[in-house]
Amino acid sequence: MKKIVISFSAAAAVILYLIISLFLPETVDVLVIGGGAAGLSAAIEAAEKGADVILLEKMNYLGGNTRRATGGMNAAGTDAQAAAGIEDSIESFFNDTMESGHQMNNEVLVRIMVERSASSVAWLTGFEADLSDVGRLAGHSVSRTHRPRGGAPVGREIVPVLTSKVKALGVDVRTENRATALTSRPGRKGKPAVVTGAYAETNEGREYRIRAKAVVIATGGFGASPELYVRMNPALKGFKTTNHPGANGDYLYLVEGLDAALVDMEFIQTHPTVEPDNGVLITEAIRGNGGILVNSEGWRFTDELGFRDVLSREILAQRAKSANLIFDRNIRDSLTATDTYFALNLISRADKLEDLADLLSINPRGLVEAVARYNSLQAGRGDEDFGRNNLPRSIIDPPFYGIRVAPAVHHCMGGLRINEKTEVLTQSGLPIGGLFAAGEATGGIHAANRLGGNSLTDAVTFGRISGEKAALMAGYTR
Ligand SMILES: Cc1cc2nc3c(=O)[nH]c(=O)nc-3n(C[C@H](O)[C@H](O)[C@H](O)COP(=O)(O)OP(=O)(O)OC[C@H]3O[C@@H](n4cnc5c(N)ncnc54)[C@H](O)[C@@H]3O)c2cc1C
Repeated sequence: MKKIVISFSAAAAVILYLIISLFLPETVDVLVIGGGAAGLSAAIEAAEKGADVILLEKMNYLGGNTRRATGGMNAAGTDAQAAAGIEDSIESFFNDTMESGHQMNNEVLVRIMVERSASSVAWLTGFEADLSDVGRLAGHSVSRTHRPRGGAPVGREIVPVLTSKVKALGVDVRTENRATALTSRPGRKGKPAVVTGAYAETNEGREYRIRAKAVVIATGGFGASPELYVRMNPALKGFKTTNHPGANGDYLYLVEGLDAALVDMEFIQTHPTVEPDNGVLITEAIRGNGGILVNSEGWRFTDELGFRDVLSREILAQRAKSANLIFDRNIRDSLTATDTYFALNLISRADKLEDLADLLSINPRGLVEAVARYNSLQAGRGDEDFGRNNLPRSIIDPPFYGIRVAPAVHHCMGGLRINEKTEVLTQSGLPIGGLFAAGEATGGIHAANRLGGNSLTDAVTFGRISGEKAALMAGYTR
């Protein structure tokens, strides 16, 4: 009898707790949804302004796609560039970004991103992130892509640094907690709705409600949802993806009923060099540091540092609909980011180019001739064949390495329309009350084609702005 009474009162307490947590929401100043570069940066800025912050992350890890970022983060006018004697300018960075985006980018947002890029890098290095190695990714006029020394992957450097800072500031970080809907009230006198918080659900299925003075959506893109990316661009049917499994475009259902405007949803970037069997992205930095692409005849067929959309098209136009990325020991040694591909056994290696060609099932004579021609261009007048603007190393130092690559879905340029304060806008261009967004969940900055290394600059820069503006809305002005 006693046992029954105890279990009855325990069950009653659980039910009471569930009722209270659903109907009596907890309150917070700023609610951040998503724990990648944008969300972590937003949480840090808001907490530093004095706001109480809850950060919801649906996966059991923080970092989203940011954790996978390899090649680096762009910025113009940094200390690391100065130390390496690299001359760069805001204007050059702006022009490269606009050209890559087919001049369809939101110029106001691009200007903010490039002007604050050096400050975003300095902000991260101020938290002890190592971004001292500066290389060049495809489509850039100069070297401005920052990563850890030795060319190590950038995401694995900045996610732990941002996570430590978020925790040190006392942000309430909740992994395995998914935001399921936003709550809102109607705006006054025909104005847009005002967001008042969100519903969340734990992995165990417990639902609860959070009331917030401001909400930041930082849920990333939809590159892991074939259903969405094929709907937005049917030509992507059958494409693999480089994205982490949580990139499902959750912002789309979060803004339902708020009349939020979307922009550039059809612009979905494929990354040209992805290992086709496992979907592992092979960083652009290998080409940036001297690697070349050859087809099944063994021949070069394009400028390896061309924009990603052009390069993806060129690769798919080859007979095999794929290409082979070729590099040597010297290039490998310049980039510890390549260690992962060796550890995964993805790379073929041989001491002679003919043997490497056999391993890759491509024409040995073509490869030998293509590499000899490339080396002579590299030592001479530059790339007279395809106009590549940077040939930093020759390919002469055995062993030689190669891997078959093909394009895969990589980045969603489209998303929520925001203004310079990162406020989410309605279809008629008015800010939705209390709602901010940053990172890959937003659109307009990269337009038709993102420049490699610009996404982290975007996520950190606008993540910081969104955290600052959200804290301001919650009444923190310091
Ligand atoms: C393999 C790879 C390599 C890349 N390399 C580079 C590079 O070198 N340089 C560069 O600039 N860019 C690179 N990118 C792109 C870049 O990493 C991303 O665009 C950027 O990190 C996006 O940051 P974010 O914070 O907006 O999104 P993410 O980092 O994806 O974070 C979003 C987070 O929100 C969470 N989330 C989603 N929905 C919900 C919900 N409903 N509730 C709670 N949480 C939710 C997700 O789980 C995720 O953790 C790369 C991308 C990939 C996939």
